[in-house]
Amino acid sequence: DRLRESKVYMRALFDYIPLEDKATPCQEAGLPFKRGDILQVVTQDDPTWWQAKRVGDSNLRAGLIPSKHFQERLNHTMVIERSFRLSRKDRQGSSGEGSEAGDSDYLTYEEVSRYQQRGHERPRLVVLIGSLGARINELKQKVIAENPHRYAVAVPHTTRPKKPQEKEGVEYHFVAKQQFDADVLNNKFIEHGEYKENQYGTSIEAIRSVQAKNKMCLVDVQPEVGYRLRTAEFKPYIIFVKPRVPESRRRRSAATSPAGGDHARTTDEDLQEMRQSAIQIDHQYGHLVDRVLIKEDSASACSELRGILERLERETFWVPLGWVR
Ligand code: 5GP
Repeated sequence: DRLRESKVYMRALFDYIPLEDKATPCQEAGLPFKRGDILQVVTQDDPTWWQAKRVGDSNLRAGLIPSKHFQERLNHTMVIERSFRLSRKDRQGSSGEGSEAGDSDYLTYEEVSRYQQRGHERPRLVVLIGSLGARINELKQKVIAENPHRYAVAVPHTTRPKKPQEKEGVEYHFVAKQQFDADVLNNKFIEHGEYKENQYGTSIEAIRSVQAKNKMCLVDVQPEVGYRLRTAEFKPYIIFVKPRVPESRRRRSAATSPAGGDHARTTDEDLQEMRQSAIQIDHQYGHLVDRVLIKEDSASACSELRGILERLERETFWVPLGWVR
């Protein structure tokens, strides 16, 4: 039995620092890990402390990590204590900002398995999420334009009139407002919005029809939309694009600009907002991200994205266990 390798793998959804852990029976025996690390769980015999190794570590010794159940309880206690502290502050007249628990407060582990796309399988969905200034739509369009036989967008629906040069089903699916509203009610869209009094939306069917042609479908969406696409059918690979934000405008040479765009009038406040946006997305959705792409400029981000997409079809990746069963 000892010789049999454990087949239980968990993706850590939080950072663990044993030396700061007051609950552990032995800090030295703890296994430190970071959010995103893959842990091979060697034994789950103890309900509170598991023994695990980090995949990719040359260190063969297993260490102690909090069990899923135990960590959930710790998180719960932490949230309650925090809201108690904040409500006390409230009574003393301070603001109660941030007292609400978010999803990221309850993260522990996600059981995962290795997955490699095989020839007969549909290509995985590629989901781009971006922080302020990342310009993910432009990035997506460029990579597709370079290789339209392999990559495609999901053709959106719109209620705006078709322009003479446009073709039904190419730029858009043109539909009447009544049809669009019905589709919204029937949950046919992964996202939809209004622009200049016209409705626009991307349907689940539009993604499926790209995949049915054996092309890789690229969508750029709000992070919470990407989260909802995390299903066995789409097996999304989520890429978080964030622009490299320089320390300060004044230290930047005139020739370079963040995200490769026309940022001639970017102020320090703009840079601060970009930084803040990236931090916020990382905090709230970082645990779902398969890959972070730091965008220096448009051309290098494109070539990096191209490289990622090529590897996606060839290499093995960790995905939630439920996706491969
Ligand atoms: P146009 O009517 O010029 O083709 O598109 C105008 C705008 O519609 C775009 O800049 C974008 O803001 C919005 N739009 C286009 N496609 C979609 C979509 O699939 N979903 C959403 N929410 N908006 C879209």
